[in-house]
Amino acid sequence: MSLKYKCKLCGTCCHEVPGDYVKRIPLYPNEVDHLIEIAKDRDIEFKVIEDLVFPDVKNEKILVLTYRIRLNNKTQGCPFYNEVSGCTVHDTKPLACQAYPLSLKRIDAFNFEISIDPLCNFVIQNYKKLEDLDIEKLKKVFKEEYPKAEKFYRKNKKLIFKIRKLEVTSKIEIPRQVSLDEFNQYLEKWDRQDISVK
Ligand code: SF4
Ligand code: SF4
Repeated sequence: MSLKYKCKLCGTCCHEVPGDYVKRIPLYPNEVDHLIEIAKDRDIEFKVIEDLVFPDVKNEKILVLTYRIRLNNKTQGCPFYNEVSGCTVHDTKPLACQAYPLSLKRIDAFNFEISIDPLCNFVIQNYKKLEDLDIEKLKKVFKEEYPKAEKFYRKNKKLIFKIRKLEVTSKIEIPRQVSLDEFNQYLEKWDRQDISVK
């Protein structure tokens, strides 16, 4: 296997893609704070949307684990993307962007696995070679990105562990079944609380 990942600098991953798929560029609360500071300095409009959240019915709070970048209306892209130079926060870009085209696929409410984003143009062009790779080979193809994806995975695991710990110590209560109506009511009425780990 001589295949090695090389970004084509096409910018697809920093933009909305046509179709039903919703582009998610996940951010941890500390990454949001960091990007807000940069956006202020550069006078860029930067907004985020809550992404991975849990309703805590005991304290009537929405627990926010991650946000996602709100894409620019006009360009349909990340506000830090520049047509000429690409990512303008490259050196301190979010962990999700560092790991890309590896990403975290949600298996259920509390579990994730490392996966390859099929929307990356490198992945599309090499799909046949990538589809049956085992983990060891995948690590070789994505030599720099795989450790970042593992870090991303570990961080999400820690966040979920923190939530579970709060649950078992009865500090919070997360319902296992919530109707869409109920969930929307919670989102409308309850305050937010960021959940962070180092
Ligand atoms: S932070 Fe950089 S790499 Fe990440 S989506 Fe924005 S422009 Fe792309
Ligand atoms: S879609 Fe893939 S190849 Fe294109 S810029 Fe993003 S990571 Fe690089």
